[in-house]
Amino acid sequence: MPSVSHAATEASAAKAPCPRCNVLLVTFDALRADRLGAYGHSKPTSPAIDELAARSTVFLRNLSQSGSTISSVPSLHTGKFPHTDRLLDDGKLRDSEDTLAEILSRAGYRTMAVIAHRYASCEWGGCQGFEKVDSDYEAPEAAETTLERAHKMLASNDREPFFLWIHFRVPHTPYAPGRDAFLAFYDGPDDAPKYYEGESPNAPIPFQTQRLLRAYRERGEPVTNFRALGGRLDLTPSIVSQLGALYDGNVRAGDTAFGKLLKSLPAEQADRTLVVIASDHGESLGAHERVGHNTLYQDVVHTPLIVHVPGRKGARVEVPTMNVDVLPTVLAAVGQPVPAGLRGVDLLGSLPPRTRPILAEYSNGQVIVIDGWALHSGRQPHLFDLRTDPGETKNVAKERPDRVRDLEVELEAIRESVDEKAAEREDTPVLEKLRALGYISDDQPVE
Ligand SMILES: [Zn+2]
Repeated sequence: MPSVSHAATEASAAKAPCPRCNVLLVTFDALRADRLGAYGHSKPTSPAIDELAARSTVFLRNLSQSGSTISSVPSLHTGKFPHTDRLLDDGKLRDSEDTLAEILSRAGYRTMAVIAHRYASCEWGGCQGFEKVDSDYEAPEAAETTLERAHKMLASNDREPFFLWIHFRVPHTPYAPGRDAFLAFYDGPDDAPKYYEGESPNAPIPFQTQRLLRAYRERGEPVTNFRALGGRLDLTPSIVSQLGALYDGNVRAGDTAFGKLLKSLPAEQADRTLVVIASDHGESLGAHERVGHNTLYQDVVHTPLIVHVPGRKGARVEVPTMNVDVLPTVLAAVGQPVPAGLRGVDLLGSLPPRTRPILAEYSNGQVIVIDGWALHSGRQPHLFDLRTDPGETKNVAKERPDRVRDLEVELEAIRESVDEKAAEREDTPVLEKLRALGYISDDQPVE
């Protein structure tokens, strides 16, 4: 526990934008930023989030620190990098790390968590520091069910200020939002083969995908073998596009639940509640011949970060940010001192420089982004110019060896800045762990 003087505490509280406010942290599993209206999506996936976003600070270029839950959630809770800072012991967040919940708990907050996904749960350290936890989730859990559990948690609470973390499973697979939700986001021809029709309209989605594959093969659509969760999958462009509509349906389900949750807060309570929306990682929806996550491409690590301070005007921030900024931002906002040794910064204070290195990682690979350039490390580094190639389709490492070198130097500086004690600890090879659990296929996440 870092020691902080009483005077320092008083000083941080005096200039805080929302002193001793409640904190509501809502994370959606596998929500990529660009499928929200607030981040430019053209379809109505997120009316409730967008409404709050208009009265919030929206960080447009935010990255999660990993492409899988098991690495990313501990990073979000501690403000440190998951592998560089050796946060994990056999895949689980180390007890010795200080979480946002632990810090707020010591500051007198009632800390509560409602968790709807295994890899964010207590088994992996997701509960560390929470006094009351409901991780009795259905697998897979619908957003409405998570919402009911959140309502119960709030109804049973008799203390303020509180810190409530809600981790929704949606829009994570299975992409099965139901027929109406799918059709709301489907934009292909009416007479084309699609999900939720034919002889078994309510069959499991993988079964329906096979039906569609047969139909589109017959129509002569090109078939590509995709990397997907748990293995490989043949798909055609029409099916990939429809998977996107299913995903959008899942996003909307999460948004609807979120909207109801916000509405359920009494007005005077909402006026003293800081709300943060984030995600543990995004989702590939066809790019790089992948569906799912567990990579470090932008579609998987570009995630939303929305911070709502009651009474503060809305703003849209282009300066790159990271999920590790959440912990210091929340602490500073509610007037708590920010511990030393974190990777993140308080985003509501002065913004970090545009050239701050942004990092996402696995134990066996990293991506560093600086000023619009993304370098995927490895024996054969890949360099992408995100300003002209946001989809990371053209590796320009050979054309720009100067840029590769600059980014490698920054990456090395981050590796060298690891706390001595942490550096002595072993890092968990998380992907190996996930493979052993059958969660991902044998393919490497970074090439
Ligand atoms: Zn996840």
